[in-house]
Amino acid sequence: MGSITNLETYAKENNVPIIQKDGLNFLVDYIKKNNIKNILEIGTAIGYSAINMALISKDITITTIERNETMYNKACDNIKEFGLESQITLILADALETEVFGKYDLIFIDAAKAQYIKFFEKYKPHLNKTGAIITDNLNFHGLSKHPENIKSKNLRALVNKINNYKKFLIDNHEFITEFYEIGDGIAVSKYHKMD
Ligand code: SAM
Repeated sequence: MGSITNLETYAKENNVPIIQKDGLNFLVDYIKKNNIKNILEIGTAIGYSAINMALISKDITITTIERNETMYNKACDNIKEFGLESQITLILADALETEVFGKYDLIFIDAAKAQYIKFFEKYKPHLNKTGAIITDNLNFHGLSKHPENIKSKNLRALVNKINNYKKFLIDNHEFITEFYEIGDGIAVSKYHKMD
């Protein structure tokens, strides 16, 4: 039987970035409150968030995409340990190059931050009209507020991309987004209501 604490310890010891506890609690509450049943996740890592979401209820199914083979293999092992193979489908692929089928109640974007706009645009056709796209890491460890203070050029470029993504969400005519100062900064984007 798998243990969530063991996953957290493994992530810490091996520098695997996983969702922060507050962010995870927010996600779990959102799934419960909105009766979410099928979820698409971009960025599996070792399966920590996918496993936590699947444990909410046996009738939740998750498709999760990971491009790093080592992470993917570890996630497969972890999902097996928890006996969640029937609920979680893992795809080993670059999310920008693979295809999924069907519609989801929730799309959770938690992969390469520089590509957030591309993930959003590529996967929005797979969102149910009443569903939500949730994005994590929008504060990027507090750095996104003052990119001008960042010395590393690469890091500054990445933070600027995250800020561009926030602007993209704010200016988006199709979606309305709420931003939460929870975990590492979370956005919840939903289709504008059509009357
Ligand atoms: N959601 C996970 C959790 O909270 O347990 C953490 C995911 S971690 C922050 C981001 C993961 O996304 C990494 O394992 C990385 O290899 C993967 N990734 C980054 N870009 C990707 C892409 N274009 N397609 C698929 N996976 C990607």
